[in-house]
Amino acid sequence: MKIASHHIEGTPQHKLSSLMGKNTEYTPVQNWPEECTVQWGNGIIPANPFFEAFIPGTFYRGDGATIEEAEANAFAQYEKEKTCNHLWGRQRPKRDLYTNGAGWCRHCGAFRSKMFNEIVNLGSHRKPLNKSEEYFLDSLENDHEMNAHMDEKYPHDRKQRQTQARLLRIRKNLFGGPQE
Ligand SMILES: [Zn+2]
Repeated sequence: MKIASHHIEGTPQHKLSSLMGKNTEYTPVQNWPEECTVQWGNGIIPANPFFEAFIPGTFYRGDGATIEEAEANAFAQYEKEKTCNHLWGRQRPKRDLYTNGAGWCRHCGAFRSKMFNEIVNLGSHRKPLNKSEEYFLDSLENDHEMNAHMDEKYPHDRKQRQTQARLLRIRKNLFGGPQE
């Protein structure tokens, strides 16, 4: 199990979360697998102790009266999945239908980010940017501080953000911005 860097004393992330008063001393007790990264906290008002475990392709979150209880709840979900004969679908239980390739198990609610191929909606890019897309493009292209922060925090998503910026830029050039 790997501990998220903001919980590890001496890292810049730890320094920052200490400054923000968000540092919560805790030592995980469950037997999470090697490739798992974990983090935890007490949430904001109202206090809501939580524990999150990220395993490539999926994640588990538990809530509880204490962080230990939250971790136990997240771990119980992880253990429950192992015994399930999964039946995958694009429908999130009691929620939306996802077309981005994410899948949920209809029996146990397990989540996998890349269970299916993405459903491509032909022609979906042939339209002007809306306001929030235009704002997003502007920050992707011009807010260097934000981009540096995101690149540091989510280095694996860097390429995806660049692709997104390119796509929005092409759409804006061809179809324009928000139309009132
Ligand atoms: Zn299942």
